[in-house]
Amino acid sequence: MPADPMVAAGQAREWRQAHEQEIIDGFAELLRLPNVASDGINIRRNAEYIRSLLTPRGFNVRLLESEGSPPAVFAERKTSGAVRTLMIYVHYDGQPVNAAEWASDPWTPTMRDAPVELGGKIMPMKAPFDPEWRLFARSAGDDKAPIIALNAALDAMAAAGLDLSVNLKLFFEGEEEAGSPHLKQMLSQHRALLDADLWLFCDGPVHQSRRWLLSYGVRGSFGFGLTVFGPNRPLHSGHYGNWAPNPIARLTRLLDTMRDEQGNILIDGFDDQVVPPSLLEMAAIEAAPPVDETLVGQFGIGRPENAERIELAVMRPAINFRGIRSGDVGEKARNSIQTSATASVGLRLVPAQTPDYLRQVIERHVREQGYLVVHQPPTAGQRAAHDRIALLDWSESGYPAYRAPFDLPMAQEVAGIMQQLSDQPLVQLPTMGGSLPLYLIDEVVGAPILILPVANHDNNQHGKNENLRLQNLWDAIEIYAAVLTGL
Ligand SMILES: [Zn+2]
Repeated sequence: MPADPMVAAGQAREWRQAHEQEIIDGFAELLRLPNVASDGINIRRNAEYIRSLLTPRGFNVRLLESEGSPPAVFAERKTSGAVRTLMIYVHYDGQPVNAAEWASDPWTPTMRDAPVELGGKIMPMKAPFDPEWRLFARSAGDDKAPIIALNAALDAMAAAGLDLSVNLKLFFEGEEEAGSPHLKQMLSQHRALLDADLWLFCDGPVHQSRRWLLSYGVRGSFGFGLTVFGPNRPLHSGHYGNWAPNPIARLTRLLDTMRDEQGNILIDGFDDQVVPPSLLEMAAIEAAPPVDETLVGQFGIGRPENAERIELAVMRPAINFRGIRSGDVGEKARNSIQTSATASVGLRLVPAQTPDYLRQVIERHVREQGYLVVHQPPTAGQRAAHDRIALLDWSESGYPAYRAPFDLPMAQEVAGIMQQLSDQPLVQLPTMGGSLPLYLIDEVVGAPILILPVANHDNNQHGKNENLRLQNLWDAIEIYAAVLTGL
């Protein structure tokens, strides 16, 4: 029968303390498999290896295929008497690496007693392990740790004779870091298998305060290229300055009409679709420990753009200028008026903004600044007839944000269980700043989604020297054991 979640967490701790060597050895074996999504042979080795971990733990495992994509590992384990189903999402692929930048080989798991940036020394891969030690390898934090923690939790529960309280399904994606190009197809094709009462998305870092975090959503992502034009050949700035239009001046002025220095968006209609935060969401943000002061110091920025805490800043849509290109600087600078200037503009969306609508209001805004909007390089005729021409490139695909309602009953159950496990208050945030295509799961499968990250906030995910702090792994084992018995 299902146990009290606190009892399950306690049993998981005891079991873990007696099996740390075995858990770390298993983790290292998984991390030794290179896992870049485009590396077809190795990515399949990962999937097969994960299948071999899950089958003996009572799962019915299938590798879900979709034309041209790495397989997703789908696993299912029924619990007799359970009426609800929990889906756990993890991705087993990782970001590409530049091995030369790493302090040790990214596919050779290495234990250190501290982060590399703080001079961490290599330690033996032998128990006893200090919980502040870190295991370094690609995907140690993003996102193989939950796979190991989950297996350890199930082993601990089996050893203690504890039953799960829910049916459990797993969906481990193999191309998340490549932008999930086949996720929609994969979800649609296998929709019937993927039904669940809740999807628990185990990816990303815990709160910067080191407290455990439940996130209810993500922002959407979109972007475009913007080119404005000057003369059709570079002109001498002495002979033609003040006379021929300067595309760099025009571009920076045009960008300034889109966003002020506080990050407020000045484009008319851009916020029309935005759903304001609910009272519950605002209260949760209020209750989260502030991290702004620490981050200001860490990032050397003097002060943030706006006098609001970061958790509120990410509740707003954002325009981010990703890059700007025209002419040259330093020794290569020439005294000429350039022919064009281009900016790359990134957008972060909040509910319920849609890429299509934003495209319309942005184009209208550019027109209102006196520009002819084109989608192909302008012809000689267009250039002769129009003073201002803006080329907008919408080839990037975008997607909307996702946010689960804060009062979702099953979310409150998960939060309640996690809250009991720690003497530190659980951090609950309405959204992460970053983007994941969670809207797809909402749209195709129709299940609510919660994000329960496992990795330490300083795990260097996507960068060199990615690592997982062992205490995070140990905690995750207890959280899984408690949630799987307490839901
Ligand atoms: Zn990830």
